[in-house]
Amino acid sequence: MKHVLMAVSGPSGVGKGTIVKTLVKRRADVVESVSCTTRAPRQGETHGKEYFFLTKDEFLTRLSQDDFLEYDEHFGNYYGTPKSFVEETLKEKSVILEIDVVGALRVKEKFPETVLVMIVPPSVEELKSRLQGRGSETAEEIENRLSRLSYELSQQDKYDYVIVNDDLEKAIQDVESVLDGTYRK
Ligand code: 5GP
Repeated sequence: MKHVLMAVSGPSGVGKGTIVKTLVKRRADVVESVSCTTRAPRQGETHGKEYFFLTKDEFLTRLSQDDFLEYDEHFGNYYGTPKSFVEETLKEKSVILEIDVVGALRVKEKFPETVLVMIVPPSVEELKSRLQGRGSETAEEIENRLSRLSYELSQQDKYDYVIVNDDLEKAIQDVESVLDGTYRK
């Protein structure tokens, strides 16, 4: 079967991380991409697992060699999706990128075969209560995330598939069938 590069986006708290991680665990032929970063590893992080940890010089060299499908700066560090890693992995497996809307659209520009999937909540109210319920963010952080929500949802038309995470198992199966090319809207 042909391997697919899939970018999965969606508002914070929508459950995209759980969906991607479950799929990767279930399927030996699907992996999550490993990004490069110039930030230092946190305790417990391993080179090649959470990230490829690069020096700034190494990152900039790879950037000049056009080795990123997209990159960005967060908190003074660079982060990027390594083109060579994705291309090599695609020879054997499908690759999923869990990435924000801006990053996903950049990847699609460089790699037009990318399948763009957006996970959306059944309703904004539902997502709000989900975010509040998880108790890991302050009220300010939640407000911040909600203010990005309308922007992200406004970009849905640019996506190949929009999947509602109403029922987690159903959403996982929907994403899986997109990967397999059998999804029916
Ligand atoms: P952290 O340092 O906490 O792991 O990640 C910081 C931020 O970098 C997060 O918002 C994360 O989504 C973003 N990030 C991680 N990898 C990439 C990447 O490959 N490209 C882009 N554009 N952002 C990334």
